[in-house]
Amino acid sequence: KDFRNNVKPNWCPGCGDFSVQAAIQRAAANVGLEPHQLAVISGIGCSGRISGYIYSYGFHGIHGRALPIAQGVKMANQDLTVIAAGGDGDGFAIGTAHTIHSMRRNIDITYIVMDNQIYGLTKGQTSPRSDVGFKTKSTPQGSIESPLSVMELALTAGATFVAQSFSTDLKDLTSLIEQAIQHKGFSFINVFSPCVTYNKVNTYDWFKENLTKLKDIEGYDPSDKKLAMQTLMEYNGLVTGLIYQNKEQKPYEELVPGFGEVPLAKAELKLSKEKFDELVAEFM
Ligand code: SF4
Repeated sequence: KDFRNNVKPNWCPGCGDFSVQAAIQRAAANVGLEPHQLAVISGIGCSGRISGYIYSYGFHGIHGRALPIAQGVKMANQDLTVIAAGGDGDGFAIGTAHTIHSMRRNIDITYIVMDNQIYGLTKGQTSPRSDVGFKTKSTPQGSIESPLSVMELALTAGATFVAQSFSTDLKDLTSLIEQAIQHKGFSFINVFSPCVTYNKVNTYDWFKENLTKLKDIEGYDPSDKKLAMQTLMEYNGLVTGLIYQNKEQKPYEELVPGFGEVPLAKAELKLSKEKFDELVAEFM
């Protein structure tokens, strides 16, 4: 099982996204998937290219819409493991509504955000994750907006698996992706993935100095949502590891009345051709 293809990523040397690509490939192999059992769906941005760099089914969607596509893929074929991926601009600006509603809906997919706190593909503008005072071409005197607290947002929106990682922690990130794939429901992993070209503040060294691993916090329990929220607030969101997991809540597809065991994509079409044409004509 090898999830590497022969496409050379055109990310800048040192970009954090390389590690995320490697972690997805390793996690998929470690949980025993074959390439035809995995679909990687991405949005727009430097990180959105990732669907083209993994040997699996892939779909490079439009800006902010990776999640609706990924959920559609899963609902059409629940036999597939579905990973949606993109950047903080994709998921927390134009795609915010999809992110929130995917979390509360709880379809069994994994969403990985490569969070570099800047728009890299368009050459460096402030993003919804940039810190106050962050200077870019779009905020030359420093950002005056507070960054979106995405981990707290995920907890309040109802995500059943919430984790955060740092792209250099390849072993931990791979393990989190494995757990996310195996979790029954919507899994969200935010990965601090430095943009070495345009973000000169939130660098690898900055994260090494400022991140705390949850496994180093005595008594931390990822099944305790209140503790998860308190810890995020205490550490200003700068923690890594499994923040919260609810193993009790059933995924959306198990609750849909009449949702069959045979995936729709493999089911026999019971409509006559005339009826099918009639239905299609309604939408023309
Ligand atoms: Fe990565 Fe930034 Fe280069 Fe984009 S511009 S590939 S995010 S380092």
